Amino acid sequence: MEYKKTKNITADVCIVGSGCGGGVCAKVLAEAGMKVVLVEEGGYFTAEDFNQREDDVYQKMYRHRAGLATEDLSFTILTGKTVGGTTTINWTTSLRTPRFVLDHWAKDLHLEQYSYDELLPYFEKVERYLNVHQEPDERHNENNRIVYDGARALGYHAESTGRNVDGCIQCGYCGLGCAYDVKLSANLTYIPDAEKAGAQIISRARAENISVNGVRKTVEGYLLEEQSDTVVGSFKIDAPIVIVAGSAIHTPVLLLKSKLANGNRKVGSTLTLHPTTAVLGVFDRIIDPGYGIPQSAVCDEFMNYRNDRGGYWIEAVPVHPALAAMSLPEFGEKHRSVMERYRNLGASIVLVKDTDSFGSVKINQFGRPIINYTLGDRDRQYVREGLDTAARIQFAAGAREVGTLHARKTIFGSPDEIQRKLSTARYGPNEIVMYSAHPLSSCRMGVNPRTSVVGPDGESHEVSGLFICDGSIIPTSLGVNPQLTIFAVAERIAEGIVGKF
Ligand SMILES: Cc1cc2nc3c(=O)[nH]c(=O)nc-3n(C[C@H](O)[C@H](O)[C@H](O)COP(=O)(O)OP(=O)(O)OC[C@H]3O[C@@H](n4cnc5c(N)ncnc54)[C@H](O)[C@@H]3O)c2cc1C
Repeated sequence: MEYKKTKNITADVCIVGSGCGGGVCAKVLAEAGMKVVLVEEGGYFTAEDFNQREDDVYQKMYRHRAGLATEDLSFTILTGKTVGGTTTINWTTSLRTPRFVLDHWAKDLHLEQYSYDELLPYFEKVERYLNVHQEPDERHNENNRIVYDGARALGYHAESTGRNVDGCIQCGYCGLGCAYDVKLSANLTYIPDAEKAGAQIISRARAENISVNGVRKTVEGYLLEEQSDTVVGSFKIDAPIVIVAGSAIHTPVLLLKSKLANGNRKVGSTLTLHPTTAVLGVFDRIIDPGYGIPQSAVCDEFMNYRNDRGGYWIEAVPVHPALAAMSLPEFGEKHRSVMERYRNLGASIVLVKDTDSFGSVKINQFGRPIINYTLGDRDRQYVREGLDTAARIQFAAGAREVGTLHARKTIFGSPDEIQRKLSTARYGPNEIVMYSAHPLSSCRMGVNPRTSVVGPDGESHEVSGLFICDGSIIPTSLGVNPQLTIFAVAERIAEGIVGKF
């Protein structure tokens, strides 16, 4: 079909996606003097668009209106669709990759470039640029105090997390985009700096196909209407270097649609989700789980505590009314009575580091993602243990009763009931509500071209000049919130591209 609006551009580099990976690459390559064109399916939103309304923001800025799910509907997967990627709507927790994970990459996977010592300067660079700092004690909100104080009362290690903000007023709406321009997400940092250096950012532009003709590559796709997904035009960008940075879900989708870099059938085959579920405590005092800094404390006592590179950790989760209503069990009158106690709810999440689970991203006949994920026995055991610990932490912080997100109501009236009820509860698909906000590793990097999609420099093993730079290339599950890792790895890859071309 011929569209009136068309863009035909020739560049040195075409980047698809503008989150952690795409944002860093756009800035570093443009500042190195390359002609960079970046296409992003989401809109280029500014402070006035971040109206703190869940109904509006989930529809406009989250993929599939925050309803992307695995095929069996057992996991809801949250990712963003904006200039700035998911960073625009994330919660600002900024943590380095755990040391034991980096040791595994360097020693067992032979990715020496990603050892702790090698990656340290990149972490430091990103942390300086994004003003990552820990919040002082008095700025934890009530919901984070539950994790911080409850864990410490039980003798578990808990600490403040780093955050990428400057002048945060603690409104609590990071997940709906920062209305005050103080969250240092990619839309306010890497992307504007890339533009200052000459990069062209084309928003509402969805890449549909990448083709390779000798050294040159062509990225083709559609221009979308600002307020809907109606196609209003098309684009074609020719460049010798293409960087796919569409996230761990949408990078494999684009590569599979383009039939590229998949001779070994590894594209999309090794998805990790960082499986996440929650406990909710009912308190006599007001908690207001949606207000104040969303995440500022973590209990990391149980990460890798058995030296099996698995385990879990516990964080607070900001719960605004619509999210609470979607997650809470019960229907009708009973649901209403739980919602009436909304302001007294404390919400903690249990995040399990994937070890023996299996995930994949494929595409259907329309090119849409088909996501599958099966929780392994060991990871399921950690889900159960994590719920046990999180419930005890809630009680230690003063909860009157604590419930899980099991389909069959599971509520503890005291800590004595936790173990018994969790041992009879079920953990199969759709028997407990599970989320993922941290999909990773679906096109992982590695030194062996038979078992990985890109090499340590982010370049496809098969197609020279085709790079991937986002959460999809992270070699394994991290066990921690991933943005800082992706930013740091992207800095390294972008620097390598500048050095090579
Ligand atoms: C609610 C929420 C809270 C979170 N909080 C935290 C946190 O506090 N700390 C933390 O470390 N992590 C957090 N995360 C996760 C973190 O933000 C992501 O892991 C990170 O942004 C992923 O970076 P990325 O570069 O892989 O992709 P993304 O940041 O997801 O960016 C990919 C971009 O590519 C675009 N794209 C995809 N396909 C195409 C295409 N074909 N054409 C054009 N554009 C395309 C997408 O629209 C998207 O904007 C959170 C996530 C969510 C959902």
